[in-house]
Amino acid sequence: MDPGRLRPPDGSPRAVVEAAVGDLEVLSRPDADLDGVRDAAERAATAARALDLTELALRADLVAADVGRRRGDLADAGSTAQAVLRWATEHRSRFLQARTHHLLAAVFQELGDLSVALEHAVHSVDLLDDDVPVAVRIDHRKRLADCLGLQGDAGAQDRYAEVLVLAEQLGDVARLSQILNNSAYTASLAGRHTTALAAVLRLQAMESDHGVETDLATRDTIGRVYLGLGRLEEAEQALRPGAGSTLRSPSAEAGADADFLLTLAEVQRARGRLGDARAALEECVRRCERHGLTAVRIRARREQAALHADAGDFEAAYAEHVRYADEALALQSEQREARARTLQAMYEATEARQQSRRYRELSLRDALTGLYNRRHLDEQLPALLAAAAGRRPVSVGLVDLDHFKRINDTCSHEVGDEVLRQVARVLEAVAATVGDEAFAARMGGEEFLLVMPGTEIGRATAVLEQLRHGIAHTQWGHLVGALPVTVSIGAAGSPDPLPLDTPELLGRADARLYEAKRTGRDRVVGPRDALTPRATG
Ligand code: GH3
Ligand code: MG
Ligand code: MG
Repeated sequence: MDPGRLRPPDGSPRAVVEAAVGDLEVLSRPDADLDGVRDAAERAATAARALDLTELALRADLVAADVGRRRGDLADAGSTAQAVLRWATEHRSRFLQARTHHLLAAVFQELGDLSVALEHAVHSVDLLDDDVPVAVRIDHRKRLADCLGLQGDAGAQDRYAEVLVLAEQLGDVARLSQILNNSAYTASLAGRHTTALAAVLRLQAMESDHGVETDLATRDTIGRVYLGLGRLEEAEQALRPGAGSTLRSPSAEAGADADFLLTLAEVQRARGRLGDARAALEECVRRCERHGLTAVRIRARREQAALHADAGDFEAAYAEHVRYADEALALQSEQREARARTLQAMYEATEARQQSRRYRELSLRDALTGLYNRRHLDEQLPALLAAAAGRRPVSVGLVDLDHFKRINDTCSHEVGDEVLRQVARVLEAVAATVGDEAFAARMGGEEFLLVMPGTEIGRATAVLEQLRHGIAHTQWGHLVGALPVTVSIGAAGSPDPLPLDTPELLGRADARLYEAKRTGRDRVVGPRDALTPRATG
């Protein structure tokens, strides 16, 4: 990271990690130092996890996954993105969702699935709120424009225009160059040569204003645009200065070099300079073979065939064209397989998660009634009560069937089971009327707990009274004949008046349940009744 970068004034560990992740997210040209970016992202993720800042850690994970994607590890980038997206969705983190869709758009773009890429790009823009850094807004909208542009959609140019304005306001020359370059490239792909030229001219003017050296990829775009317009001299001019001076980079720009040489060969052939074209093409092929650039190598074969044809050697042209067609087909099926492998990896990760979630869910349920079990309660109650210690009340009702033994003994154990199941349904229905977060659990035997987060004890006691009344007035005759089915309930809430922990809360509910049993059953006892037990009747 740039050591001279401004640190936030408070310098707390959290602020430092936040700033580091924020910096990584807006780096405009990570290609320059992919290893450095990944190392920094991994360090930031570790630091964030140590501070329990999961969202920040996942943002850093996405930066690292994006480096992997640039390196060609699409499957890994894809499954990281899936995992992050799940967390972000569960925790309603819009920014993290937007960042994940942004990454997934690039993954699918590279897999050649442009419509899925476009879908992700749309989400990545929709989910951004107004307060995100402008650079992030630019990146997300630019990728959306790219996805549209690669599909040949005319709307892409309006999108590029939008982000150009933003990048200009920001004075971000690197991003301006990228946008103009992509705008020109996609316009030229779509045969919109005049639009492409406008972008190119603007790009050249801007780069000369800022004294920026035009990179190879950009010069290649410029050359292609002029080639498309049939302005061959300008095309060659755009390409020429690079031919001598910049063919040097070992690996990072190898792809750009090879692309560039291929365009140069095309231009020279179009100008009738077959010898120069052949030399450029030979150099292009050498680079392709040295760096394993399959796709460019195949396009070079087509150019080679055209060169042979222009030189009048139709036999060689035909032979080369056959090789071109064979290899292009093989590449296509290889890409399809890569895509299938990536999707498979992403899918398997999702399925494994769903499986483990299903098992987990099962382990938290009671087999007889389907309600949550004691284990779930032990997991949930402490957290809910911690929230209550802050400001949010939690109330519970401990519900125990009256003289249940009699039902088992008089009818049968099976009938007893059915009564328990029916009572569970009533409990669930009541929980649903209380709110999204309320739930019922089976404590064991014929004892249940209704948990009502966010409900203060007065309202909870009223709800429990409805529950008691509902059970007492259910038609039980077909199951138990003349035997009454009733419940006694002890109600408790936190704070009362001080915050309670789980044993304290359940202890109070249990004491009040005992009080309800002692004073006649089929009743609810809450905090006030417990102090002054009402008369039985
Ligand atoms: P009280 O009103 O004082 O609560 O009386 P009770 O009979 O309900 O209480 P007690 O604790 O004496 O008996 C509870 C009975 O519940 C005993 C046990 O056999 C029965 N029971 C516990 N679990 C199950 C179950 O899963 N199915 C059935 N059918 N009965 C169960
Ligand atoms: Mg009982
Ligand atoms: Mg009991």
